[in-house]
Amino acid sequence: MAYIVVTTRAPFSHERSSGKETVRFSTGGVSTSLRMIVGREGGTWVCWGDGSNDRAYPEEIKDNVRIVRVFIGSRERRGFYEGYSNSTLWPLFHYFRDRLKFSRKNFLTYRKVNQDFLEAIKKVYRPGDTVWIHDYQLALLPGLVRKEFPDAGIIFTWHIPWVTGEFFSMLPESEEILRSICSSSFVTFHTGLYVRNFFDSMDQILGSHDSMKGRAFSIPLGIDYAYYQKKSEGIHKSPFAGDQKAIFSVDRMDYTKGLTERANAIETLLETHPELIGKFVYYMAVSPSRTNVKEYQTFKRDLEMSIGRINGRFSSVSWVPIVYMNKKLSDNLLIAFYRFSQVALITPLFDGLNLVSKEFIASSRDGVLIISKFAGSASQLNGAIKVNPNSRLELAESIHSALNMGAEERRVRLEMMKKEVSRHDSAWWSRRIRDLARKISFPEGGRVVEQH
Ligand code: UDP
Repeated sequence: MAYIVVTTRAPFSHERSSGKETVRFSTGGVSTSLRMIVGREGGTWVCWGDGSNDRAYPEEIKDNVRIVRVFIGSRERRGFYEGYSNSTLWPLFHYFRDRLKFSRKNFLTYRKVNQDFLEAIKKVYRPGDTVWIHDYQLALLPGLVRKEFPDAGIIFTWHIPWVTGEFFSMLPESEEILRSICSSSFVTFHTGLYVRNFFDSMDQILGSHDSMKGRAFSIPLGIDYAYYQKKSEGIHKSPFAGDQKAIFSVDRMDYTKGLTERANAIETLLETHPELIGKFVYYMAVSPSRTNVKEYQTFKRDLEMSIGRINGRFSSVSWVPIVYMNKKLSDNLLIAFYRFSQVALITPLFDGLNLVSKEFIASSRDGVLIISKFAGSASQLNGAIKVNPNSRLELAESIHSALNMGAEERRVRLEMMKKEVSRHDSAWWSRRIRDLARKISFPEGGRVVEQH
């Protein structure tokens, strides 16, 4: 069985600047896991060619993977990517009601781009192939592929949260999207809660979720644990200056990540525990993201104003509470931060999974993880301090507890989480999905009952 993996994010892209050609690899966890599975079993990867020099490479073969690129013009990109994907579906599926934009025009462009992906699949599909489609940008694609190839194996993996039926049904196109996803052979989410919410959406919009029973699974994405473990053990020098305790976080610049709330919690911590002034530094790395979307530009400005205000209020000649880095970190520096920080502060308002929390666990020597209870990974990370990111006081107190936690308690909690994250790593994730793909066929094939 060969896979046709379909994502908007490409595994790598070709760039050209000042006459020089370079190849940029995508480092995210999803890309790495998919590269592994397609590389091993052979197959094709259909993706968006958004690199500045990608049009010179519409198709190529690299490391046993055939890459086929879909090109999207700049006007279509606005409707499809900045518009419907990131100004409608993204806020909807993270419960941001007041950021939601409803635009029929954007939806039609979204549908058109999903059709462009279908055209690319049609060129490479052979009977017996399994088409594995990823995420909210391509939610209409399962339906389009099913119509074209009624017997195809189609896997759809949803990487962000799924909301309750009532919330989802606010979307004018909710039924079309739901029917498309339900024409997959099976669907995977990152938590059991998202599966339940998906069934709830089916109940509300389609009247029943019977047709998806035994075909929707919670299979949380894992990381390449061995990579982080090995790499972190090879780093012996701390990246932090001074002898203060280090609190660390790394996120994309996104309003779902709870960044301003976190900065404000540092202010509350310093107000309620003034004895901590000068005793820790919070290193906050925020990588640029969706810089063309207006909401993201406004969000960045507001965050930076909060950080400036807090630093202005508490800094001294020799100490600054928040060291803010607005850049993408190199892998080596990122893992050094994971390894040597005493506390990782990962508190999104909503997050489909959150790979950073797992990477921290794999790399840390004796750190404490503070995780939002609204991150998908929280359900697997029982040794963490779980917090409600909407409470400044609760966040501040959790940081205080983390900074004061004894060595033995830190060790026990970390060991427990290391066991969980290493057992359910990226190889486990792809193996689970591959095993299901072997068992399930559509539409007449046998049902599979989830086994734990
Ligand atoms: N990453 C990052 N910032 C950097 C360098 C790398 O966020 O400066 C990586 C990080 O290691 C992780 C991924 O980007 O693998 C972020 O995944 P996550 O699930 O935590 O959040 P997402 O960005 O997908 O919402």
